[in-house]
Amino acid sequence: MTRIPFIAGNWKMNGDIPRTHELCAALVARSANWPQTGPKAVEVAVFPPFVSLAVARETLHGSSILLGAQNMHEAQSGAFTGEVSGPMLLTSGCQLVILGHSERRQYFGETDAGISRKALAALAVGLKPIVCVGETLDEREAGRTNEVVERQLAGGLKGLTETQLSEVTIAYEPVWAIGTGRVATVQQAGDVHRFIRGWISKSYSNQAAARIRIQYGGSVKADNAADLLADPDIDGALVGGASLDAGQFDRIIRSVPTH
Ligand code: PEP
Repeated sequence: MTRIPFIAGNWKMNGDIPRTHELCAALVARSANWPQTGPKAVEVAVFPPFVSLAVARETLHGSSILLGAQNMHEAQSGAFTGEVSGPMLLTSGCQLVILGHSERRQYFGETDAGISRKALAALAVGLKPIVCVGETLDEREAGRTNEVVERQLAGGLKGLTETQLSEVTIAYEPVWAIGTGRVATVQQAGDVHRFIRGWISKSYSNQAAARIRIQYGGSVKADNAADLLADPDIDGALVGGASLDAGQFDRIIRSVPTH
């Protein structure tokens, strides 16, 4: 089964409204070079902060670049001061939402159970989740990477049917590689991607495992993307810092190998 590589830019808490317009316009100008079909096809999405979604939507209009949010609340509406719901994201032009990013787990107390409730809520309104998993340095050094990733998958995808899973992307993001400049080797990333695909096969089916896209995230840059993306089990990248530079993000997208 051919999986179209998927490159996503997580802007984190960066990009005010003028900067969002400028960056989106720069990406739209480059997007003519990103094939939508054929052996070099690639899917591209950006994830600005909530307040910048409206300007991003306007600037991306008519281009192939998809829009997503970095988080959402599991309820559709209600007394949850400061939160944003799935239906709100949908009407802001989002097709996608990142769930369970390690920064949200670390700083905002997100749990696997909460991530699965958010994933079900996102899918219920037609948003496609990117569910993030990944181990800390201590966990890797203790030889617990697979155990941690398995727990996050089992908890974060709990209750999702195989049909729902077909709308999900998994992002493997080792915490020690996020924003540190310390990228996983192709072998380290590829091994965990194969573990994840094996888990999907065991927990759902071989077909689900063959279909699901698994992105790598953690210090992906223009000069290391080609090697990572050449691994047959690495189906794209979730890019943080380097996605804030249109030239660098463009070079990452153009590193996608023929598939
Ligand atoms: C991320 O935020 O998901 C990420 C991978 O960040 P960076 O690329 O900056 O390591």
